[in-house]
Formats: sequence, C-alpha cells, structure tokens
Amino acid sequence: MNDLLVATESKPPPLQAFDVTIAYRSTPVLQGVSFSTPPGTLTAIVGPNGAGKSTLIKASLGLIAPASGHFEFFGRSFRDVDGRVSYVPQRTSVDWDFPVTALDVVCMGLYRKIGWLRPIGHRHRAQAMEALASVGMQDYSKRQISQLSGGQQQRVFLARSLVQGAELFLMDEPLAGVDAATEKTIIDTLRGLRDEGRTAMIVHHDLDTVADYFDRVLLLNGRIIAEGPVADVMKPGPLKEAYGGNLLIFESSES
Ligand code: ADP
Repeated sequence: MNDLLVATESKPPPLQAFDVTIAYRSTPVLQGVSFSTPPGTLTAIVGPNGAGKSTLIKASLGLIAPASGHFEFFGRSFRDVDGRVSYVPQRTSVDWDFPVTALDVVCMGLYRKIGWLRPIGHRHRAQAMEALASVGMQDYSKRQISQLSGGQQQRVFLARSLVQGAELFLMDEPLAGVDAATEKTIIDTLRGLRDEGRTAMIVHHDLDTVADYFDRVLLLNGRIIAEGPVADVMKPGPLKEAYGGNLLIFESSES
C-alpha cells in the first residue's frame, strides 16, 4: 500500500472546522460552520454566488480572521503545517502581468523545500518540468505566464501545487472558464492525487458534474446546508434549500 495511505489512516483529518463564524465588518457571511474532511477524498464546495465558498477557503488559511471558531489542518494550526497544504486561488485574483515564465511559477512551489535564498538547481528544474509535463504544459515552460490562456494558467498553478508535495489541495474554481481538455487534465490529476491518499477541496460551480468528479460535497449558503458523500447531499431537498428558485435549471437537466 502507498506510504501516504498508510500514514493517513491513523492521522487527524486534513481539514476540520469547529463552529466557525465569519463576518466582513459586522455582517456575518458564514455562520456555525463545522465539518471534518476525510483523507483521500475529493470534496466539491458548492453553493450559489455569495454563499461564502471563497470566504471559507480564505478563512481556513488565515487570510481572513473568523469572528469565532477555528480550523485545524491535520489536527494542528495552519502555521504548523502550511507546507502540507497547497492553495490555488481564483484565476481572476492573480496578477498575470507579473513577468515570470511558466517554469518560474512552478519552481516557486519548490522554494519552501529549497529555502528562499538558495539557487534553483538542475534537479529542481527537472522536477518542475516533470510537473509541467504531467499537466500537458511541457511545451510552454518558457512562455510568459501572461501569454497563456486561462486554462493553461490554471494547469501551471496545478503543476506548482504538485511540486510542493502537499497532502491537502484547496482550489478556488479551477475549472471556471477552462476548456474541456484542461478540465479533464485537472480532474485526472486530482484523481491521481486522491488515489495516493491525498485530499482536495475544490470550489465548483457546475452542479451537473459534481457526481462524476467528486466523492463528497460541502453545500453552503451562509452556513452548511448539507455535507457528506455526493449521493447524500445532491438531492432536491438540500439543493433547493441552498439555491432556492435558481435550482430549476438543474432539475430540468436531471429529468
Ligand atoms: P462565493 O465564493 O460563494 O461566491 P464569497 O465568499 O466570495 O462567496 O462571498 C460571500 C459574501 O461575502 C458575499 O455576500 C460577498 O459579497 C461578501 N464578501 C466577499 N468578500 C468581501 C470583502 N472583502 N468585504 C466585504 N464583503 C465581502
């Protein structure tokens, strides 16, 4: 059996939330959120616009301070485990004019291992190239990141996460606006990580693909509406509660 699989069986969950409430100024956007993510699973974080999906991820990483409650990664605070956690932000929140190549971006994922002031060696570059190849981007290594398509940029970010060697991947809408080939590459890569015992939690907007791509769902709208295996959550009751009238499209595609 894979080492990581063996190791995760006796370990605390990759991410747990304990009664977390988050507010911007004094307006609460997420209330009383508690969950525990099992290792070796792919979880979709789903809910309508403004449900608090991005806020949840950012708060777990300490980018927003919760009004109350706390998060634990592998039973510890984020500060103690951050090398084991990889975060891929929403593509639109990144400054793509930053003058770096695709290979540079992937190498940035190695700095924690190498040390910020140490030079990147041949071995590290080879490792970064291997990660680029695993997401089908080996031919674009020297391309400026600003000159890649949205889907290609997303693949490069995934490659950066891969070299980091994280055990938990938090990704904010990696499939938004990407082409079908990129979507397949990202999902195949995530499945490969899951099969190694790693864990991913992904903000996802397409309800039609949730059952195909994910094992579990965290359904949000200002609080947790439902959480658990896909079959338990993707039911008309909880979905209606989360989406209200906007669920019509989903229901008609199911019939
Ligand atoms: P989602 O990712 O589900 O679309 P968000 O987490 O981005 O939702 O936002 C949740 C709520 O918090 C929304 O009502 C949004 O307008 C509000 N919000 C998000 N970021 C901020 C911010 N920086 N300041 C104030 N309100 C914010």
